Order: sequence, then structure tokens, then C-alpha cells
Amino acid sequence: MMKDEFIPLSVPTLHGNEWEFVKDCLDTNWVSSVGSYVTRFEEDIQTFTRASHAVATMNGTSALHVSLRLLGVQAGELVIVPNITFVASANSVSYLGAEPLFIDVDQDSWQMDLDLLFDFLLKETIQSDKGCLHKKSGKKIGAIMAVHVLGNMCAMDELLSIADRFKIPVVEDATEALGSTYYGKHAGTFAPLGTLSFNGNKLITTGGGGMILSDDGDLARKAKHLTTTAKADPTEYLHDEIGYNYRLVNVLAAIGVAQMEQLQGFLDVRKRIADKYKLGLESIKGVAFQKVLPAVQPNYWLFTAKFPKQRELLAYLNAHHIQARPFWIPMNQLPMYTSCLYVQKQDISQEVYKSCISLPSSSNLTEEQQARVLDVIHSFYAK
Ligand SMILES: *Cc1c(COP(=O)(O)O)cnc(C)c1O
Repeated sequence: MMKDEFIPLSVPTLHGNEWEFVKDCLDTNWVSSVGSYVTRFEEDIQTFTRASHAVATMNGTSALHVSLRLLGVQAGELVIVPNITFVASANSVSYLGAEPLFIDVDQDSWQMDLDLLFDFLLKETIQSDKGCLHKKSGKKIGAIMAVHVLGNMCAMDELLSIADRFKIPVVEDATEALGSTYYGKHAGTFAPLGTLSFNGNKLITTGGGGMILSDDGDLARKAKHLTTTAKADPTEYLHDEIGYNYRLVNVLAAIGVAQMEQLQGFLDVRKRIADKYKLGLESIKGVAFQKVLPAVQPNYWLFTAKFPKQRELLAYLNAHHIQARPFWIPMNQLPMYTSCLYVQKQDISQEVYKSCISLPSSSNLTEEQQARVLDVIHSFYAK
């Protein structure tokens, strides 16, 4: 029964050389931490994003953790994170004993609200010889994490100039934004350190994997060192600091190399999917799309829009075997983060959470499947 076929939200498309490259790893016995695919994958990402350096990691979360550590974030400090993001953004801060400080998001783009960020830094922080201090708690603001939510981007020049003015280093969580650009420059290459993810639901996947991008050779070298147990000698077990076993293994990097060969095709398909959803949904009263700045070319990773009667529509779609999801619960509402600072005026996060739905957006979504998703949505509102 075609009608009841399950349509997933975002699943991998593995139609290229994945099998051949993985087989090569198995045939040659190079499955683990040594082998040529890790280097090839890093070079492919480097070439595509035009980052000077790329360091593969086991996932996006570990890439964020190490990047924050390399920026010098210390226990007891605060790190600014948008209130709408995946929990890994905030968790990576906590791993260092630092605390996330959440900034509400913009009503239309759902990215960190830069006016709110500026206002907060201007009124509630003070510069000292230790850096930018939060007046009330006396804690240092160790970093700003720019998250490119859903592959969209905020005005990066504005964010960077705010960070510069208040002397706070920036790290980019570009885990959802491989292929997204701002004035032609790739997400993940604006800050000293940027991060990517190759989890199964992302634009390309290695099963699990991540990458740290940097234009700074010294930072990239340190990133490689920290993610490979800080081994300081090729033969002796000499480790010169407490590192992490965060490396990406060769057999997974092999999948990444094959996925990179298909990346441009995936980007083209995702844009077509987004365009078709917009065309098919714009006539429905109360539906609102994510605002994209003219300078931004998003990767349209996961199509998400605001819908009236969100909870009912979600249930209706899932009852029709269409996997649709609500947005992330805002970070300030998660049990471990309720006591953290949350800077907001109208709690836009809550409104975004209460109205957004993500729709099936896989690179292998067929035209027939997408037409069915649209039909089901229209039939819901016609009820
Ligand atoms: C996917 C994701 C991560 C984490 O990546 P993993 O590879 O799953 O560890 C971090 N931040 C955001 C915004 C993400 O979407």
C-alpha cells in the first residue's frame, strides 16, 4: 500500500562509493586510527569549505568540546549560546565546568538575537584585565558560540564585530550548516574555530563523525593533538597533557570521502525540496517560513516552518506515517539548565518551539513522497 509507506524525516543517502571505500578499509585491514581516508576526508572538507585546516573528530559534540577548550574557556566561566539549539551546544560548555548563558532568538530567523546580545553585553558586562566580566556574578564571558540553526546563518559580520568590541572569542557550531554560506564564505570558517557534524541525520554522514575547521595552523595542530590523546612521540607512550580519544576512525572517514563526492547533488536536492514546500504551503493561513538574509545561502538541511495548530498537525502527520518533529525544547527549559542565565524580552524561543514543525527533507525524498506530505497537510487544514 503506497499510501501508508513511511516517510522518514532525514535519513542518509548512501548511493555512491561508500561500499567500495569501506571494503577497501576491510580488505587492507586499515579500519582504525591509521589509514589514508581520514586525511583524504579532511582534505575534501578543507577544499570544499576553503578552510586552511580541517581536523576530523568522532562527532560534532567532541569537536565543540575541544574547540572551546582551545579558545581557553575555563571552569567557572560563562559561554554565550543561543536558547534554541541542539543540547550538544550547551553540553560541550558544561564538559569544561563552564556554564552556558542563553540568549533568546530572533522571531523570524530563529538564530541568536544579535540586538539582545549587544544590549546584554553593553549593560550587564564590564571590561577588566581578565576579559569581559558579567557584572552581577563576576564571572568571565569565555566565549560566544554562534550556532547556524537549521543551516541558516545570522549576520555574521555583525556578530563578529560585537564579539570584537567586547573582546570575546567566537566558536562556530556549524554542525548543521555544511555548505551554507554568508557572502559566499562558508559556515564554520568565520571564527578561529568552527565545527561540523556527520551524524546520520545531517547533510552528509559518516554514521557518526565531526570536524574542526580553522585558518590558524597552530590551533589546528593543537586540535589534532588534543583529539588524539596528546601523544607527543611517534614510538614512546609520551603524552604531554590530558588529551581525548576523539579521533575519527578510518572506516568511517571512508564513508565520508564517498559522501563528499555526492555533496553538491545533496545540496541541490535539499534546495529543490525547500522550494517545493514553500510553494506548496504558502497559501495556508498562518504558516510562516524561516527568514533568510539576502547574504545567506543556506544548505536547507531540514525544512522547518511555523504552523498553526502545531501539536494537532504533528499528530496527524505521524498518524499518516509521515515523520514530522517539533523543534528542540528551548535550552532554558531543560532540567539541567533551568538555573542558567537566560537573556530574553519576550521569550521568542517558547513561541518558536510551540509553532515549528520539521518536515521530511532527506536527499532521497521522492517527488511523490513530498507531494503526499503536502496533500496530508492540506487535508488537515481542510478538516
Ligand atoms: C548535530 C548537532 C550537534 C552535535 O553533533 P553530533 O555529531 O551529533 O555530536 C551539535 N550542535 C547542533 C546544533 C547539532 O545539530
